[in-house]
Amino acid sequence: MSMRPAGYAVQNISKHVWKLPGDSNIYYLDLGAKVIIDTSERPQRAKMDLFLSKFVDFSKIDLVIFTHFHLDHVGNFDAFPNARLVASRAEIEDFRKDVYGAVLDKNLAEKFKHANLVAIEDIQLPRGLEVIPSPGHTRGSICIWYPAEKILFSGDTLFPVGIGRTDLPTSVPDEMPKTLAKLTQYNFKTLCAGHDYGLEQL
Ligand SMILES: [Zn+2]
Repeated sequence: MSMRPAGYAVQNISKHVWKLPGDSNIYYLDLGAKVIIDTSERPQRAKMDLFLSKFVDFSKIDLVIFTHFHLDHVGNFDAFPNARLVASRAEIEDFRKDVYGAVLDKNLAEKFKHANLVAIEDIQLPRGLEVIPSPGHTRGSICIWYPAEKILFSGDTLFPVGIGRTDLPTSVPDEMPKTLAKLTQYNFKTLCAGHDYGLEQL
């Protein structure tokens, strides 16, 4: 039986967390500060405008956290006019070295080059969120831990079934085992992954 959500309606994950499911998922957290984790791929913009905008005014988003810079996570980086755009310093460094290798889409990389990116290490995160450096899928991948509700936002590092690829231009395959070992120490109740790979089989 398929558990893939019908349509693209926004799902409530917990008291403070919502999800716009798609081929790539977008998460919205209302922690006083309003936070988006990943922005899916560019063609999802219409669905964001149709559904996610009913839950939050995009101009009120304070912070957009990118787990990494692949095209299906930064596709709508420009949908939130007043947000700070943050990712790990390593991810930003690799992007500056090779924009295509980091994004995997030339047109999007050209647009994204003009974004004002801030290292997540240099900002004060909203209270209750922690960054877990998670090199593997990309060198600069991060997961976000929300201990109050035991939610792990895992980007493309960990899926409901399986793990992210480590054969892409900014991947560091040798680091993935250490990252996965680290993640097993987080006692998460809910996995909020970048993609729902595997759910169809459960
Ligand atoms: Zn990815």
